[in-house]
Formats: sequence, structure tokens, C-alpha cells
Amino acid sequence: MPGKALQRLTVLGSTGSIGVSTLDVVSRHPERFRVAALTAYSRIDLLLEQCKRFTPDYAVVMDATAARVFEQRVVEAGLQTRVLCGMEALEKVASLPDVDTVMAAIVGIAGLRPTLAAAASGKKVLLANKESLVTAGTLFMNAVREGGARLLPIDSEHNAVFQSLPGDFNGDLDASGVRRILLTASGGPFRTTPLDQLRNVTPDQACAHPNWVMGRKISVDSATMMNKGLEVIEAHWLFSAPAERIEVVIHPESIVHSMVEYVDGSVLAQLGNPDMRTPIAHALAYPERIANGVSFLDLTATGTLRFERPDMLRFPCLALAFEALKAGNGAATVINAANEVAVARFLAGDLGFMDIPRLIEAVLAVTQATATHTLAEVLALDHAARERAQQWAAQTKHPAFAGTHSGLAGS
Ligand code: NAD
Ligand code: MG
Repeated sequence: MPGKALQRLTVLGSTGSIGVSTLDVVSRHPERFRVAALTAYSRIDLLLEQCKRFTPDYAVVMDATAARVFEQRVVEAGLQTRVLCGMEALEKVASLPDVDTVMAAIVGIAGLRPTLAAAASGKKVLLANKESLVTAGTLFMNAVREGGARLLPIDSEHNAVFQSLPGDFNGDLDASGVRRILLTASGGPFRTTPLDQLRNVTPDQACAHPNWVMGRKISVDSATMMNKGLEVIEAHWLFSAPAERIEVVIHPESIVHSMVEYVDGSVLAQLGNPDMRTPIAHALAYPERIANGVSFLDLTATGTLRFERPDMLRFPCLALAFEALKAGNGAATVINAANEVAVARFLAGDLGFMDIPRLIEAVLAVTQATATHTLAEVLALDHAARERAQQWAAQTKHPAFAGTHSGLAGS
């Protein structure tokens, strides 16, 4: 039967939150999926367990020394899995000729090159790594088109929008009668925290999301709402939607995963319990539906669904992302890079929570966001923005430099 053929799958970032949920769904359907490759940066013990369970042809770790140690353990475990290392190996396993589907679940711009490789080689690309689209939108969408890839969104909001659009949607909102895309956002753990307490919040408080269990970077992004900002940019590329036609609505229950508003006043939504195995299973089996272990929604138990307008004073990162989308060129690459540095420094205890938007704004102001046409240009702009961000963080961290951020402009 069509669609039931065995899908050969590479999972980029298999030890992360999305990677683990993907393998959970895969393990429920051994007749449908065969794991060809797994990759990880850390949690190597978990990677070994995954190799034992799914016996992939390849496993990739990033560091050469770690790879040699890991290879030894793979041999001792009696596995045939070949161990590779580094960025080129990620690109290789994302574009293996016998792989049908690539789950792109590496976090950050580190996921860009392998995700591009999957698109360029015409895979079915299950896109969790939103940073690929944010940093290299034109390049990435061109690779999808030219490679003949099938792009399916994993981000719960975009997956919900995809499910709420007509099946034959071809990138023309007007032709499909779409007026706006309504992205829902939980508002994160600090939706109602008094504003003057935000600068004292700790990394663990920021990572304690009320509804979702996720990796630490995206958890902090949810707390600042930069995650929603990146998702606005992601929606722009996925659905050819200008900034004016994307609206963010705070919905603290995270039951309505996003909506599409049509010109006749109809609003179509996708609902479900907040569990990433729903979009993952949807994309893995698309256009079929498969069971995934998700608990079914009981609306009467949920009771009330609330919707609020986001407060841009509380969430300046959301405003910065809209600004970057409207500015175009490389501005989104710049805010992504600045955000990655800011979040890493916040998680390391070097910066306060409210320094995150301050750093991004400062870096955006002093970095020339040139148009980027090639991967090399994207990576160069990313690098320049990161350098500025590290300088800003260093100046903020050391009391001697505190309050002298304007010095960055000339450096
Ligand atoms: P995570 O931190 O839990 O896992 C990230 C994975 O990438 C791990 O396997 C890690 O080893 C690997 N990795 C990290 N740095 C790497 C590097 N420099 N090179 C190669 N591999 C590296 O992250 P996550 O929460 O699973 O998120 C993954 C992606 O999915 C992100 O882009 C995130 O925005 C997106 N996403 C996640 C969720 C969620 O619920 N977790 C929801 C929507 C979108
Ligand atoms: Mg999301």
C-alpha cells in the first residue's frame, strides 16, 4: 500500500528532547520506520543506548576524541554501527542515498548545515530546527525547492497551521482565502511575574515551563518569548506570510496550538494536549495518522481556554523579532546569533534574564545586517554578530565595564 513502505530515517540530535520523542514514536511502529543514523553532541551514554535499541548504520558524535571512545564502546557492544564525527559527517548522514526522511532536531544554528544538506538532497525534512529557517530563510527555501524536498513542520504551532491550511496550499495565502495566521504562545513561566522581579530570575526558574518539557535553550527562549519571535520568522518562510499577517496570541493552557483565519471569518485550529509526539507522528506518517502514546484531550477537564494580547514591555524579544523580520536581509541571522550567545551566557550564570533582550538590541544596533545569498555569507554574519554579543556580555559581566555598552559601537 502506498505510504506503508518502510521509511528510512536519520535523526539529527537524537539525544535531545525532540530526538527522544521521535524515537519514542518510531519504536511504536517498527513495521514503518527503520533508523539509518543517529547523531549527538552530548549525552553519549544515551546515544549508546539508542544505538543498541535501533541498530542504526551510522552514529555521529561531534568531537574526534569522543568519537574514538564511543566507537570502542560500540564495538564492545557487538554493534555494526559505523561511528563518524564532525559537521561533514552530519551532512553525510542527512543526505545518504537510502534515507527517505530526516528529523532535523539539532538546536541552534549548529543544525543549519545538515538540515540544508537534507533539503538539497530531496529528503522529507521534518523541521524542528527553526533556526535553519530564521538564519537562512531564502537559502533554505531555495534548497527545498531545488532539491525537491518535502518540508513538514514539527514546531507545534507551525504543524497546527499546516494542518489548518487547505491540503493543496501552494504558498499563496490570498488564493487560499487566508487572512491571517494566528500563532499561540503560552507566555512561559513569567507571564504574570511582577516586572521588577524578572531581572533576578534563575536559569532553573526560566527553564521550568508550565506546559512543555523541552531542551534548556528553547525553554529560556519561551520564557523571553524570543521563541515566539523566531516562530513568527519561521512562519513567514514556511507559509509565505508577511509580518502584518502573522499575529501572536497568548494562550496559557497550550491546548490550541495555532490557528488560520480565513476571509469569510472562519478560524480553523488544531487542538491537543501539549505533547510533541503529536506533530512528530503527524509529520512522520503524513498524510496518514498513526498512534503515538499521547493522552487524549479532555476539554471538560481543561475547562477554560484563555487568550490574551502579548505585552511587548514584558517581552521585548518578541518585538525585536518582528523588527528583524520587517528589516529583512540578515537581521534575523543577527538576532538569532545574539540570542544564542545571550541564552548560553544566561544559562552559565554570566548574565541576568533581562540582559538577554538588552544584548540582542545592542548587537542588532551595531551589526550591519547585510543580505546573505550563500551559506558562507550567513555563517560570516552569524560569526560577526556572535563576536559583538560576546563583547557585550564580557563588558556586562565585569563590573569595571558596567554601564559602558555604548563603547561597543566603535569596536
Ligand atoms: P535539546 O537541547 O534537548 O537537544 C538538542 C540536540 O542537538 C541534542 O541531541 C544535542 O546533542 C544536539 N546538539 C546540540 N548542540 C549541537 C552541536 N553544536 N552540534 C551538533 N549537535 C548538537 O533541544 P530540543 O529541545 O530537542 O530542540 C531541538 C530543536 O527543536 C530546536 O531547534 C528547538 O527550537 C526545536 N523545537 C523543540 C521543541 C521541544 O519541545 N523541545 C519544540 C519545538 C521546536
Ligand atoms: Mg513552538
